[in-house]
Amino acid sequence: MFWDNYNETMDRASLEKLQVALLKKAVEQACKSPYYREMFLKEHIAAEQITGLDDLRRIPPVTKDILREHYPYGFLAVPREKIVRLHSSSGTTGRPTVIFHTIDDIREWAGLVARCMYMAGVRSDDVFQNMMGYGLFTGGLGFHYGAERLGALVIPSGPGNTQRQIMLMREFDTTVIHIIPSYALHFVKSFNEMGLDPRKDLHVRIAFLGAEPHSEETRHRIEEAFGIDAFNSYGLSEMNGPGVAFECTEKNGMHVWEDSYILEVIDPVTQEPVREGDEGELVFTALKREGMPILRYRTKDLAAVLTEPCPCGRTHRRITRIKGRTDDMLIVKGVNMYPVQIEKSLMSIPEVGSNFLIVLDTKQYNDHMTVQVEVSDSVFKGDLRELEGLKKRIIEGLRSEILITPAVDLVEPNSLPKSEGKAVRVIDNRKQWG
Ligand code: AMP
Ligand code: ZN
Repeated sequence: MFWDNYNETMDRASLEKLQVALLKKAVEQACKSPYYREMFLKEHIAAEQITGLDDLRRIPPVTKDILREHYPYGFLAVPREKIVRLHSSSGTTGRPTVIFHTIDDIREWAGLVARCMYMAGVRSDDVFQNMMGYGLFTGGLGFHYGAERLGALVIPSGPGNTQRQIMLMREFDTTVIHIIPSYALHFVKSFNEMGLDPRKDLHVRIAFLGAEPHSEETRHRIEEAFGIDAFNSYGLSEMNGPGVAFECTEKNGMHVWEDSYILEVIDPVTQEPVREGDEGELVFTALKREGMPILRYRTKDLAAVLTEPCPCGRTHRRITRIKGRTDDMLIVKGVNMYPVQIEKSLMSIPEVGSNFLIVLDTKQYNDHMTVQVEVSDSVFKGDLRELEGLKKRIIEGLRSEILITPAVDLVEPNSLPKSEGKAVRVIDNRKQWG
């Protein structure tokens, strides 16, 4: 089988040797693109000078802005006719960037996704319902090709239309789903509304959760509601999409496929590497991309490397959950925080429903933070004193997590805006001074 070609337990020295050999090739390929040709000339970089992983640091990193400056074809390393597909990032922060793939790139990527799914226990007799957005976003087609490569039966349902999703799951005995975590929480409610219990009325055993930061608490909720195992899946369009890092059955950190990507973790300010195990910005080098080589891409995603070897025996290093992107950081009353911290605190309280929204305003020259929290139906319609007690508990939980005391509004289930794609967690109405 094709995944037998991957060596996931190779000793670190051999893995690093392989990375150096692949890096040399990647630099050679990159040289064929206008951007790298010019940059390598300027920086006096040549493939034959690469003898160790340290040489990577001589190559200036790529940011989203650099990709935009060289839009559309500045990074293309093959003639345009060899390109078979383009994808684009979600564009949550400014204009989207476009990534081009050759047929070999698509094959390579599909192989990586298949490898992730296989690691989590998916086999060719599984029925895979892909509830991610198809189109420019990489989550849908990335998993679609991966699952087909594995030989599973793919139901390309895309997101939304929950009733049809449930019908498909029941008609075709879906065993594996791929879903955005915030959407999965809403999805559970639809079962209840239809008088169904996902634990009893479905055959699903595995879910892949990706595309947005989410906490361990959210994973637990989804696992509990469906009676399944949920795995964290990380990727970004600049590095193909899903298939960059993925959880094994230990469900403790995501293995980065280091025979396809070189991972660095840097201090986002100094750009120096952090100590192994410290949190920093993830930087990836795609080792096998033909159409659009990207070396040292600054993801803005914050995470840390887990220093302990994984009990599963794989030697490819693991990273923690993604805390957020550097530009998702909120500064409220001078305190730094990430939306996922609020999610984590809320989702640990069982009476809290499936959605929340952080609203920031300016009141009397000061930051004011309100967290609107959907509560479960029974609680909302229940005793007022209970509601007050719940509100207090929520505020206390948030205070210990984010170190400031926000206002909390408890709201009716289904009343906050929902998204079928990545959730929008923050509305910032604050006045910008100066
Ligand atoms: P895109 O380029 O549109 O595919 O979005 C990629 C971005 O989504 C990443 O850079 C992360 O910020 C975010 N992302 C993807 N997967 C995860 C995940 N499992 N956990 C947290 N954030 C994720
Ligand atoms: Zn493992």
